[in-house]
Amino acid sequence: MLSDRLPSSRRGPLGLRLGPEPIRHLYLHTPFCATVCPYCAFHVHTGSAREMRVFVTALLREWEKLRKSLPVEVETLYLGGGTPSLLPLDAFRQLADAFRPWESVEATLEANPRTVTREKAAAWRDLGIGRVSLGVQSLDPAVLRTLGRRHGPQDVERTVAILREAGFGNINVDLLFGVPGQSPASWEETLTRVIAIGPEHVSAYELTYEEDTPFFEARAAGVWREDEELSIAMYRTAWNLLESSGYRQYEVSNYARPGWASLHNQGYWMGNDYLGLGPGACSTVGLRRWQNRRNTTDYIAALSAGQDPPREEEALSKEVRQRERLLLGLRTSRGVPYSWIEGEAEHARALIGQGLAELSDGTFRLTPEGRLLADGIAGLFVG
Ligand code: SF4
Repeated sequence: MLSDRLPSSRRGPLGLRLGPEPIRHLYLHTPFCATVCPYCAFHVHTGSAREMRVFVTALLREWEKLRKSLPVEVETLYLGGGTPSLLPLDAFRQLADAFRPWESVEATLEANPRTVTREKAAAWRDLGIGRVSLGVQSLDPAVLRTLGRRHGPQDVERTVAILREAGFGNINVDLLFGVPGQSPASWEETLTRVIAIGPEHVSAYELTYEEDTPFFEARAAGVWREDEELSIAMYRTAWNLLESSGYRQYEVSNYARPGWASLHNQGYWMGNDYLGLGPGACSTVGLRRWQNRRNTTDYIAALSAGQDPPREEEALSKEVRQRERLLLGLRTSRGVPYSWIEGEAEHARALIGQGLAELSDGTFRLTPEGRLLADGIAGLFVG
């Protein structure tokens, strides 16, 4: 199906657009999860099938409003959350009707292993979803328990088999390292087993302790503490194992087999405009950025009354957007034009001398070791 990979002729330039160019990237935030994990800082909560249907109706109203006022030509569509794979199939069909044709865009659905059934997988595929991103996190039952996840390693293998059977040829697996109690051996075994399962794409994120989460409180109380050295070692293990198995790191936390890098992710990292729909979702269009309030009840109430959802909006300057583009670009294997940083040539030369960066064909990019320090290095260039 076309949505597995976008033909290059439809990809369009992934450059910064500040003019009246169409918006090509859509994110739909579904705030429902079966339970709320103790490290999660997204806007999520539990909800019944009826609440999910009401929510989808509101989301479609927001879409109607936005598409009437802004030029949109969807190239990538990302259904995230939350756990959008929990949505009842009739609500899914409503979404599919509104955003068709999904077959001609990169359409990604986030799913949790225990929420995928044969019936759902076949229906998603029929509706044109081409890519599924699975929230696996670990294949170690002890680590999964610490994370408050309800699935086990066997659920992951079963889910991937169901998705393959349904015809999905583009699967991402999300993993976490730096979890309290997670040993290097556990991380290595998870990576080895995931590689054997064979997804096209792997995201390996370091756990962060977000404010207002039980994990944050546990760290503040001294129950857990971060181990930077261990996290660095785990980053290197991921790089070594994934790269030697045919995956390519195209951003600090993202690896793909050649040709399977996510276009949606790349759109963000190139600084393209995007629209985020749903409570808590953020949008950036030209020099405007707004975020819907993180409250599902208010979101539904406003849209049911024909109003815009409550939002915070900020005006950006061209300099701010350019700085963001530099920060994001340094995290990717694509790098940034050298002209963006030549004012800091001394820093650039020092980084190249230390093996943390390289310069070729006018492009400055960090090496894998440099990407480990990407945020700190970016600070050298943006002051
Ligand atoms: S399943 Fe994902 S989105 Fe839902 S609470 Fe857990 S971490 Fe957050």
